Amino acid sequence: MTNTSPDAALVLLSGGQDSATCLAWALDRYAHVETLGFAYGQRHAVELTCRQPLRDGMAALGDWGSKLGPDHMIDLGQSLAAIGATAMTAEVEIRFNEDGLPNTFVPGRNIVFLTYAAALAYRRGLRRIVAGMCETDYSGYPDCRDDTIKALQVALSLGLDRRLVLETPLMWRDKAATWALAQRLGGNALVDLIMEHSHSCYLGDRTRRHAWGYGCGTCPACDLRAKGWGRWKTG
Ligand code: ZN
Repeated sequence: MTNTSPDAALVLLSGGQDSATCLAWALDRYAHVETLGFAYGQRHAVELTCRQPLRDGMAALGDWGSKLGPDHMIDLGQSLAAIGATAMTAEVEIRFNEDGLPNTFVPGRNIVFLTYAAALAYRRGLRRIVAGMCETDYSGYPDCRDDTIKALQVALSLGLDRRLVLETPLMWRDKAATWALAQRLGGNALVDLIMEHSHSCYLGDRTRRHAWGYGCGTCPACDLRAKGWGRWKTG
């Protein structure tokens, strides 16, 4: 179980703040880094259009350009959306379900993503899969839990007969700590790049510019991002 390169990583890059910070984290420590995005019938594909500017911006920082390898996109079509409407894949209002989960939860999404990522990592000989799942100040999505990720690492490594390591550098960081991490990894240039070009807003709004970047300013994702930025700035 050795023929994946230990110094090579595949980063799940959605175009949001968390995945952008994960890309910087991987570029800071690994010799070769590739990126992966998914189209899954999400309501607002605007996030995906942020991926290229983020890649281009990071390639211009330090020696990261020499480490940044190809970008991959996997189109899952309407397969996740077809299973059931959520606020991520259909025009329904964002609200909380009876079990306390917001209806932005797409059941099994991260499990599907990581399984595809593992298959691609196998093909590309990349040992590490880096993703922005976080238990700290997220919405309680069960597939973002540390135990879910650890169990998947075991299952995928066994099922592919390759040593794969699932790394989630943001698991125990809140949004303020995520900005602090970006600052440490790439200084103000990286903070500015992520603030300007990453997208978090659930409503896909890139017309309103705030101190923390673009977004509607009121949806749960904007609220989280704004509060994290504020805590980091006043920290
Ligand atoms: Zn928003």
